[in-house]
Amino acid sequence: MQGTMQDRPLTLNHLFERAERLNPTKEVVTATATGVDRYTYGEWADRTRRLAAALDSLGISPDGRVATFAWNTGRHLELYFAAPCSGRVLHTLNIRLFPEQVTYIVNHAEDEVIFVDRSLLGLLAPLMPTFRTVRHVVVMEDGGQGPDPEGVEVLDYEELIGAQAPAEFGVDDEYRAASMCYTSGTTGNPKGVVYTHRSTFLHTMGAMLADSVGVCESDVVLPVVPMFHANAWGLAHAGVASGAKLVMPGPNMVPVKLAEMIESEDVTLAAGVPTIWMGVLPELAGRDTSSLRAIPCGGSAVPKALSEAYRAQIGLPILQAWGMTETSPVASVANVTTVLEGLPEDELADVRASQGRPVLGVELRIADQATGEILPWDGQSRGELQAAGPWIAAGYYDDPRSPESFTDDGWLKTGDVAVMTPEGYVRIVDRTKDVVKSGGEWISSVELENEIMAHPKVAEAAVIGVPHPKWAERPLACVVVKPGEELTKEEVVEFLDGRVAKWWLPDDVVFIDEVPKTSVGKFSKKDLRDRFDDYTLPTAGD
Ligand code: AMP
Repeated sequence: MQGTMQDRPLTLNHLFERAERLNPTKEVVTATATGVDRYTYGEWADRTRRLAAALDSLGISPDGRVATFAWNTGRHLELYFAAPCSGRVLHTLNIRLFPEQVTYIVNHAEDEVIFVDRSLLGLLAPLMPTFRTVRHVVVMEDGGQGPDPEGVEVLDYEELIGAQAPAEFGVDDEYRAASMCYTSGTTGNPKGVVYTHRSTFLHTMGAMLADSVGVCESDVVLPVVPMFHANAWGLAHAGVASGAKLVMPGPNMVPVKLAEMIESEDVTLAAGVPTIWMGVLPELAGRDTSSLRAIPCGGSAVPKALSEAYRAQIGLPILQAWGMTETSPVASVANVTTVLEGLPEDELADVRASQGRPVLGVELRIADQATGEILPWDGQSRGELQAAGPWIAAGYYDDPRSPESFTDDGWLKTGDVAVMTPEGYVRIVDRTKDVVKSGGEWISSVELENEIMAHPKVAEAAVIGVPHPKWAERPLACVVVKPGEELTKEEVVEFLDGRVAKWWLPDDVVFIDEVPKTSVGKFSKKDLRDRFDDYTLPTAGD
């Protein structure tokens, strides 16, 4: 027997129309290089419709990829909806990728147009000749400086949308692609995740649940997490859907500016990676932070000490969440539940230092890495964390590597190793993916060690991430020198300089006799990580 309910598509148009109809007077605020821009959702909606008309006028294909290379701003939020609500696919380019990676993803996604903030043109303009499908560049003046790109039509955002009448929207297939985001990981080129209208709609509702992040109409949301990294954790969509006031930090993401905005805009919910909150805490001293009700934080493990420092200073611990680009990203949130009532404060702090319980809609499990056997939630068994749900990726966009990341029964293999408590809290204890996450962005340890092993005096090298108080993790190079040769740390770092991005350079180099190996002769990063677990990097005090 079938139910008798209506089958209405779950599309972003619905989220958009709610802001337009129900909350037209609520504000979207953007910090710019020169001040603060403010407008209402009513104005935002009108501009978003004009922007969609502009995409038509540029001849962007019905499902054309519309790329952004931009900070968190009101205009970026216009693009977040104009592209998908007109049937196109928003492609947020991560401004921190290497030039070759940006070239790869623009060409792989077949972007037709790129919307870029003036202050970021210095990074993008030199790459224009490498883009095969981009026909137009639309510049968004943000008070910054940057060269006009050559060899492509360059348009001004305000002139472009000013010349249009508002477009009608009409997407009715909830399985249609809405946006895409590439994630860089262990080796090779970044992999693309393509979100559907439906997955984004459901993820937005997930972010609005009181037992997850609980974004609601009375919130003032400050997404510090970039809109180019995992959809700003769904906060841009949830802000629009709920009608919350949105405060966009723009290009000036320095701690003192963020602290000022929290105070002056009465921010209730501010989200970012641990590195951000480490920098902001001292700047909050002496300010009125009474508006804050939640500080969602993830992307890397949130140190218990950081969360406790917030609790001590402003009376509010950090709200840890776990997720991935592949999980839209919010998959679990470490809210303390009544199940745990009565625990002493220190144990509650331990719970908050976990990755939390799965959000309604997401299923998590742990599996033995060797046998695939599903392991019990006993707080002891450790296995690979796997995820399933309507906003979890089922594969990568046009990528032969997809099968490596999914189980035979369709669950996402996250590459994180976790234990699960009987109450359903995830605790990440290790990683199978060979990467270092510094300040929320990935460094490929495999690529770094390949570069080190290109040094003529190096026999073997392995790179691991070790804890760093500011960046969460930084790379440590463990190097085996060829017999009879001598090598210094400085020589290794100098050798790498110019071969990898500056922020990839290892913070330290240790010389070891041999890289530990697994039974099948692979580098055993786990053994190395155990050995250097307590290692204090020379940069730890910086
Ligand atoms: P990304 O796709 O760049 O967002 O990275 C996702 C990865 O970041 C996860 O698979 C984890 O390795 C890591 N990560 C995200 N949130 C957390 C967290 N709360 N604790 C520990 N690691 C995290």
